[in-house]
Amino acid sequence: MKSPSAGAPDRHASSRSVPDRWNMHKPMLCDSLPTASRTAAAILNLAQREDVTAEALAQLIQTDPALTGRILRFANAPAQGTRRPVASVIDAIDLVGLPAVRQFALSLSLIDAHREGRCEAFDYAAYWQKSLARAVALQSITAQASTVAPKEAFTLGLLADVGRLALATAWPEEYSECLRKADGEALIALERERFATDHDELTRMLLTDWGFPQVFIDALQLSQQDEIRDEGRTGRFARQLALAQHIADHRLAEEPRRAALSPLLRAEARRCGLGDEDLARLLADPPADWLDWTRTIGLPGDAPTGGAEPSRPPPQTDEKLHVLLADDDPIMLARLSRQLEADGHHVASRRDGETALAYALEHQPEMVITDWHMKPMNGLELCRALRESALGGNVYIVMLTASESEDALVEAFGAGIDDYVIKPPSVRVLKARIRAGQRIITLHKKLARERKEIERYSSELAAANRRLELMAHTDQLTGLPNRRYAMDRLEREWAQARTFDRPLSIMMLDLDWFKSINDSLGHDAGDQALVHAARVMRETVRTSDVVCRMGGEEFLIIIPDTAGPAAIQTAERVRSAVEQQQPAKLKLSRPLTASIGVADSTSAPSLKDLLLKADNALYQVKQNGRNGVRYAGL
Ligand code: GH3
Ligand code: MG
Ligand code: MG
Repeated sequence: MKSPSAGAPDRHASSRSVPDRWNMHKPMLCDSLPTASRTAAAILNLAQREDVTAEALAQLIQTDPALTGRILRFANAPAQGTRRPVASVIDAIDLVGLPAVRQFALSLSLIDAHREGRCEAFDYAAYWQKSLARAVALQSITAQASTVAPKEAFTLGLLADVGRLALATAWPEEYSECLRKADGEALIALERERFATDHDELTRMLLTDWGFPQVFIDALQLSQQDEIRDEGRTGRFARQLALAQHIADHRLAEEPRRAALSPLLRAEARRCGLGDEDLARLLADPPADWLDWTRTIGLPGDAPTGGAEPSRPPPQTDEKLHVLLADDDPIMLARLSRQLEADGHHVASRRDGETALAYALEHQPEMVITDWHMKPMNGLELCRALRESALGGNVYIVMLTASESEDALVEAFGAGIDDYVIKPPSVRVLKARIRAGQRIITLHKKLARERKEIERYSSELAAANRRLELMAHTDQLTGLPNRRYAMDRLEREWAQARTFDRPLSIMMLDLDWFKSINDSLGHDAGDQALVHAARVMRETVRTSDVVCRMGGEEFLIIIPDTAGPAAIQTAERVRSAVEQQQPAKLKLSRPLTASIGVADSTSAPSLKDLLLKADNALYQVKQNGRNGVRYAGL
């Protein structure tokens, strides 16, 4: 998933001051934090729990009406022919499955928190557009040639490049520099140099953290290779992922480049068993679909293929308001509209409560001035409906009323109005009331801006924690997991193997005569040889095997789900690869080789014993002349 990004400017603040700022804003904002962000955080927590139930997730989602709507649209969007539309969250979970809904809710909360950010050279809008294009394509592809559930494929498509976003969030300034200097493979190398990881690896780590199935993660890794040899399900899904990525590139490319991409696209499609007609269908999503998706996901902007969005009112400054007038008297409507427009406000007019409500929900005006008596839906009903909706909670509502009777006013305030003006309104009084409303609206906007800042800070804090955790687990020279990670992981694998009665093997590997490289060519050359050997090892083993640097020139390779004989074969493959693939740039006096001891959990009563056995086997290889493999045996 490699493509360059270019950017939108923003400023950078030191992460050291985050807690201070949080403490400063917290007392003021605690009451005004919206339900949506609390729900998102709760879903993030819930999403990480294995034992989450459909009921618990549905209950949580339903506390946020906007999220509920998006989930229902997600479930009802066509992917596998027509079905009865679902109308409740629990039915949606039933239809598309708990993992798909959980992952989709997670994606939404990520999008909400990262629609924009502080990494200048990172184009957030383009990033999400491309992610959405990939998601839509992958969903359609998997619906045609089934490998995984299309809705799950959709969320994977959406997050298949999330490592880039993570880097932009964790290191906004440093990553900007990287993006300006490099792209493609060079960017990956630069990322590894600066951050001891790269965006592809980070994507896999995050998806693992979020509980995505391993087959997705393996397929994602495979899809990034030049040639996919695996003919099983993982391989087929990897090809589909690669195709979806190319379709996304194609969709977002300008015309001359688009044409150049077409042959590549056809070749990728053929590899997935799809003909030219299938491909044409995949490329021909009507713009209406796009609009639906961008709305469901909550992305701003047009469809990438130039689909037209309904016209929006111009952006409002603090001084000028976006006002909706609702009155069934056309003369009154025209007069008020003229007077407010003369003051520079953006004014929309509707002649009944129902169409006014539809306008308000779609365009979210800052102020609604409404008559009381209208049909269908009078001013009071309009007001109640707005207050009950997720979007109408903050709009400032002024009621035009013929009566100033106490009962009528109490009823109107009970329905949620902020102010009233007696009919026929005096222009001076109405304008004075609008100015009063404007002060409240400005305050609301300020709070909303500050709330957004806080959301940004807290997501940066989470990213910074993730970064620290990463650094604590990564060997800086080779980028491999370090000893601390190796021991943690080994303990987990050991427990799993015991619980499920599955085999587990390990390899202890020590490079031969390594000291002599340092002695003859210097320490830097020794470092290069270590980096080279680490790469060879990682490329030789399966994605599910874990290569770790234990220290110096010693490595541990964890081989889950594998018994002795297969592990010996893997060890022999690694030994031979190290011998065959010499570091070309170094003039070594003898070839770089490795000695390997292999042990298997079935022959070890404890983890300590397993390590000891592998170590002893390695020692024996050294005794017998090095460059060999020995199995600790039973
Ligand atoms: P043997 O075949 O018996 O394993 O011989 P050896 O020379 O590889 O073994 P020994 O353990 O005596 O030496 C390991 C050397 O690895 C010693 C140390 O200088 C070198 N070494 C350890 N860590 C690093 C490193 O990070 N960079 C470099 N360049 N050298 C390192
Ligand atoms: Mg050695
Ligand atoms: Mg050693």
